[in-house]
Amino acid sequence: MQERIATRPRETLHDRLPEMRQSIRKQTVKDLIADKLSSLIASGVLAVGDELPGERELSAILSVSRETIRGAIQTLAGRGLVDVAHGSRTRVAHVDLGSLQNGLTNASTINRYDIESVHGARLLVERNVVAAAAERIDAEALRALEESLAAQATMLGDPVQFLIADREFHVTIYRAAGNRLLADFVIDLYTYLMEFRRQAMARPGAIEKSFADHKAIVAALHARDVAAVVAAFDRHIDRIYATTRSILEPAARGEKRPGLQKPARRAAQPEESL
Ligand SMILES: [Zn+2]
Repeated sequence: MQERIATRPRETLHDRLPEMRQSIRKQTVKDLIADKLSSLIASGVLAVGDELPGERELSAILSVSRETIRGAIQTLAGRGLVDVAHGSRTRVAHVDLGSLQNGLTNASTINRYDIESVHGARLLVERNVVAAAAERIDAEALRALEESLAAQATMLGDPVQFLIADREFHVTIYRAAGNRLLADFVIDLYTYLMEFRRQAMARPGAIEKSFADHKAIVAALHARDVAAVVAAFDRHIDRIYATTRSILEPAARGEKRPGLQKPARRAAQPEESL
């Protein structure tokens, strides 16, 4: 942004007004929510054809009013990312690669690394970030996490809804650490191989285990117990690593890929019973 401004000759404040209005407009809650929803689509949490959770669920997950959710969805519909059909649920219509940006980098960049590297980086960075969050988290963030847990409890049968809530839950904790750069970096790591995480979460019992991890994390954050928060996150990150690997391994052995990109067909895969 600054570079662009610097290259313009003799720019007056008046010249810059539209740009300034644009950046102010970007700060509206509605647009922040639209950005969040489009990054859920870009990162693979939501795939083309998926139904978006209802207004009530999204309002609970993202801690904003239903009116704001409605406005954000209209923005996405205007960009062609979702179809708002009258009388039925809103569906994802298109993946906008231009909004692939997650935190610092983008999903396709992170996905070039192997799972061991990403897991190692996550442990190294995330332990420190959540330890700082345990010390610095405020009442508002704790309340948001409690509300998120209440919403998650209603989503145990829906991996996609749960993952949307999961991402927001993690972002709230990473931001509580007070370092926006590290929070964005950890979110990049979190988003790694999201389409495989989706499948992992669809396995029986997976959501319940993650939900139990989340409850332990929130209890430790309430107690401001740094060691307990780090231990609870270690368990959670190890679980994510193990379940993602169990989805990746059949693919790495060159087994049939059908189903890997389309979770709806996962029931036909033999490893489903593991
Ligand atoms: Zn989680």
